[in-house]
Amino acid sequence: MLLANRVAIVTGGAGVNGLGFASARMMAEQGAKIVIIDLAAASPDKAAALLGGEHLGLAADITDKAQCEAAVRQVLDRHGRVDVLFNNAGITQPRKTLDITDADYDAILDVSLRGTLHMSQAVIPAMQRQKSGSIICTSSVSAQRGGGILGGPHYSAAKAGVLGLARAMAREFGPDNIRVNCITPGLIATDINKGKIPEDRRASILESIPLGRIGDPDDIGGVCLFLASDLSKYLTGVTLDVNGGMLIH
Ligand code: NAD
Repeated sequence: MLLANRVAIVTGGAGVNGLGFASARMMAEQGAKIVIIDLAAASPDKAAALLGGEHLGLAADITDKAQCEAAVRQVLDRHGRVDVLFNNAGITQPRKTLDITDADYDAILDVSLRGTLHMSQAVIPAMQRQKSGSIICTSSVSAQRGGGILGGPHYSAAKAGVLGLARAMAREFGPDNIRVNCITPGLIATDINKGKIPEDRRASILESIPLGRIGDPDDIGGVCLFLASDLSKYLTGVTLDVNGGMLIH
């Protein structure tokens, strides 16, 4: 068991077709006690129950710092520690630069970037006390190549911001034995893009992926498990591209 007795928080993990839930399931299979944090409307308690009775689902909006702190307090009350934070929650919007409103910008940046900061701030003091922890942040190929398939420039900017934040936190908290790494997914089939890939673009998208297929959530889950566990114990500040070769650089 790679994660026996470890406590792992997964944000945005309530959607059973999403990257967060697949990662939560794979970490649970390796012995982790999972805490899924998601919006109340996404029913994180039901998602956690699907993994088994020892797992917990908590409702919180990660754009709100007080809600993040309250959720982590509940985790610490129940488990006394937190070993892994998977900053996975995110939203996207298909927009062109000139169409991005201030409200669009705030919505996208607040979940991916501010939410990653809030949740990291909430768990880091406990990880410092433990002198161990792994924080995994979700960026995107969109940050690296200047646009993905569906997200607008504000999404690319938010995900590029996540890369910078994660690397800076890796440097700051390495001395506490807290590792901070990023995953940059390519195109992975989840609810975020379901029905949104135009059929006339599908063939050319597949042609641009050397492995010849769109990713599935377990492709991210495996990498999350690796970064959460001691298999990656000498890795911090890295970015792992999980994109089937869509971007090789
Ligand atoms: P998804 O829509 O299935 O999951 C996102 C989850 O985040 C949802 O459960 C949603 O309820 C939750 N969420 C949204 N706002 C929240 C908030 N304010 N507080 C708490 N939870 C909130 O999408 P997914 O495809 O599983 O995406 C997971 C992550 O991977 C996202 O950050 C996304 O940007 C990133 N990503 C996805 C792809 C892809 O192709 N699927 C590619 C690159 C990056």
